[in-house]
Amino acid sequence: MTNRISPDVIVVGARCAGAATAMLLARRGLRVLVVDHARPGSDTMSTHALMRGAVMQLNRWGVLDAVIDAGTPAVRQTRFVYDGTAFDIDLSGDGGTDALYAPRRWLLDSLLVDAARQAGAEVRFETGCKALLFDESGAVCGVRLRDRTGQEEDIHAPLVIGADGRNSVVARQVNAATRQRGTHGSACVYQYVSGVPQRGYRWHFAQPTSGGIIPTNARLSCVFLTVASDTLGDARSTSIQDMAKRLLPSMAEDMGDAVAETRQVAFRGQPGYLKQSDGPGWALVGDAGYFRDPITAHGISDALRDAELLANAITSGMMHGYTAQRDALSQDILDLSDRIAAHDWSMPELQALHFELNRAMKANQAVIAGLDQQHARAA
Ligand SMILES: Cc1cc2nc3c(=O)[nH]c(=O)nc-3n(C[C@H](O)[C@H](O)[C@H](O)COP(=O)(O)OP(=O)(O)OC[C@H]3O[C@@H](n4cnc5c(N)ncnc54)[C@H](O)[C@@H]3O)c2cc1C
Repeated sequence: MTNRISPDVIVVGARCAGAATAMLLARRGLRVLVVDHARPGSDTMSTHALMRGAVMQLNRWGVLDAVIDAGTPAVRQTRFVYDGTAFDIDLSGDGGTDALYAPRRWLLDSLLVDAARQAGAEVRFETGCKALLFDESGAVCGVRLRDRTGQEEDIHAPLVIGADGRNSVVARQVNAATRQRGTHGSACVYQYVSGVPQRGYRWHFAQPTSGGIIPTNARLSCVFLTVASDTLGDARSTSIQDMAKRLLPSMAEDMGDAVAETRQVAFRGQPGYLKQSDGPGWALVGDAGYFRDPITAHGISDALRDAELLANAITSGMMHGYTAQRDALSQDILDLSDRIAAHDWSMPELQALHFELNRAMKANQAVIAGLDQQHARAA
């Protein structure tokens, strides 16, 4: 067990939350080590519609051009269809970006890892954090790593960041208190199809189901359906197309002659939570500290937002304020996602919830627009 390097920060998890946090901290001159037990460039269970705030950040960070160069289609229109009644929203020209994007996760996460490496971070894949190290005062002071050959290594650092997702080892080992818990979790099935015209985001709703079409790389579309979690059994055994025909005819019509290109992936659902996300020698970012039902497609956008909040908190020496700031920005989105995940709405109720969600998103967007200035002022 040797100590080969001496980083300022160790980040556990190298996807959107971890890689973005590592990139920002390395750009600000910190020595950063990032580890992930996944293989480089792997996919993960997630659809991947980005909201405006995330696109603004990727643009500001210099990563958006690579997303576009990889053939990710621009999304300039979104359509909400409530029981067959469509509402179109123009997405161009807001917040300094003229479109939204939905890059595949293997692409987005890899681009953020590349940017972190370019900024000087060391990134080790196929290397897991087996345990945290604690000093005599109880503060986290490092990690015990294990690589794919089974070799273990202890590395010390004054700060360990858990960006290790919903089953975070870091959150578990520091006993991060749950500050708020949701009540509902919607189940989701999704897959990639070809042959669907790429016309922007399409969100379809008819009680008790929702679904959507997300245009993505290689001219494929990600199609998904969500249901209350106790009805997942049915969704697992039926094709998305057949379920859409039965439950969401407007979506089936939008899918037309879609050809399935991948198997269906099923997510059984999990209620949201907000966890205490900073403490002595540790912090949590992304799903490790905050999860909201995927039905509102906010997880990646929130992870990027919180990466910048956390990086700002660390470099300004104000770590203790990070959890409270994140909670203030997340509360409405968490509550609204939870209510929508119940799948018990009437169409007017759902429209009202979406209206509220839009207000919360705009408020978030305004804060995200100022995050780099917040850092510049503190520097
Ligand atoms: C079905 C579904 C659909 C979704 N759709 C959307 C959507 O359309 N839009 C959206 O914005 N969000 C969506 N989300 C949410 C989004 O996927 C998450 O919010 C996002 O992945 C969180 O990113 P993260 O980096 O925090 O965690 P993750 O993406 O979970 O990454 C955590 C990483 O940590 C690594 N790791 C874990 N434990 C260890 C360890 N001990 N040692 C080393 N490495 C470790 C893992 O290998 C993994 O690579 C969806 C989620 C689901 C489940």
